Amino acid sequence: MKILNNLCFMCGESTSDGIILNGEKICKACEDKIVNITPKNLNYDTYKDQIKIILFNQQV
Ligand SMILES: [Zn+2]
Repeated sequence: MKILNNLCFMCGESTSDGIILNGEKICKACEDKIVNITPKNLNYDTYKDQIKIILFNQQV
């Protein structure tokens, strides 16, 4: 199976490693951020919204 989109959905970086979540590419760096982020982090809401878009195809 060929990866159609090699650009990270979160940061837009072109990278070969990372995960595919519901058809969207997430690079290793962003994956780590998502895994380790806490609600105290300033970027928490941004990441949460982007994950929501990926998982549920919600537009914000
Ligand atoms: Zn990324």
